[in-house]
Amino acid sequence: MVQCETTRDYPTPPHAEPVAGTVPVLRAPPPTNAAGILAHSRLLDSVAAFTHHRDVDALDHSLALSLAELASARSVSLAKRAVDGGGELESVVHCAPDAQGHYELRVIKPAERDLAFASMRQCIGQPEVLAQIIGPGMHRLVVPILCDGHAIGALQLDSEAPSSATRPLVEGFARIYANYTALLNESERDKLTGLYNRRTFERHLQRLLSGLDTTDGMPAAAPQVWLAILDIDHFKRINDSYGHIYGDEVILLLAQQMRASFRHADVLFRFGGEEFVVLLRASAESTVHAALERFRRRIAEQIFPQVEHITVSIGYARIGHNDYPATVLDRADKALYFAKKHGRDRIHGYESLAAQGLLTQAMAPGSIDLF
Ligand code: GH3
Ligand code: MG
Ligand code: MG
Repeated sequence: MVQCETTRDYPTPPHAEPVAGTVPVLRAPPPTNAAGILAHSRLLDSVAAFTHHRDVDALDHSLALSLAELASARSVSLAKRAVDGGGELESVVHCAPDAQGHYELRVIKPAERDLAFASMRQCIGQPEVLAQIIGPGMHRLVVPILCDGHAIGALQLDSEAPSSATRPLVEGFARIYANYTALLNESERDKLTGLYNRRTFERHLQRLLSGLDTTDGMPAAAPQVWLAILDIDHFKRINDSYGHIYGDEVILLLAQQMRASFRHADVLFRFGGEEFVVLLRASAESTVHAALERFRRRIAEQIFPQVEHITVSIGYARIGHNDYPATVLDRADKALYFAKKHGRDRIHGYESLAAQGLLTQAMAPGSIDLF
């Protein structure tokens, strides 16, 4: 039975001082002895270790482990809110000691998340620190991870130490994590559209491909990963007729339509000018084709400011476990090129074009720059 010790209105810590306007700065009292200095350097080591990572997953794991070790916690969990998924949790990492007492990290599957992570979900939904007693001598502290006033996630620490003692440490980690992920996100996303940029493509691809391994028992139609390249038709004309500002507006609106049209699990990139890439997981080619066709139609039907009508051409290909990213991009690009040559505003899949022998003639190089 979870009891609430207190849920809000913590007093401001005595060492909080307003500096340069209204931003309070939390300063830890200076260490006065060797043990104190050692504790501070362990903390610094820990922060340096987890901010060393450039990959968000590795960062999450390292943060949970560092905090668990520093606080000698019973467990530490980190949950993150899905970017476009309402209040849903996108990922949960859990760190707790194994039978030998070594901390072990686990990524929690969506089906397991319900009850155990209710406090983190509550904390994300209504960003406040939660302090609970979850058993005899066992305290739970849940701290929101805030970015621009919104909770992007929560850190949960279960420990024998009272929440008032662990709170400054957990809040400090949450703040550093928020700052650091904001920086990482900025470097991973395209400025105009907010979609992932090309630099992050290989990492996302690897993640999707490795995710396929978790399919136990391999059902008859196992999920596969598909790559689609979307290119706006005659975009030069749009720029030439209406100017770059309207051209940029078209790119921005198209990216919004991509977000609205594809599923949350599909990964969206702006690869360059008016070229976009989507990574989709699906068991059957027909599902991929239907999703792309829905998007093509949506764009053809939308009225864009000034420009009014635009169309997109799309080429896609299946990605095998052993394919090089550049090879798959090249296949999807060949299918895109075929679509451009055969009237634009259409979709072609590489495998089906190849099976029909339509790609046997020497294909001119496609539009996308390969690696
Ligand atoms: P196609 O149907 O064959 O794709 O014709 P296209 O005119 O779209 O041809 P292409 O893909 O070669 O041209 C893309 C143009 O997009 C070239 C460039 O002027 C323009 N462009 C590239 N990046 C941007 C951008 O960020 N903003 C704007 N407004 N235009 C861009
Ligand atoms: Mg292009
Ligand atoms: Mg184009």
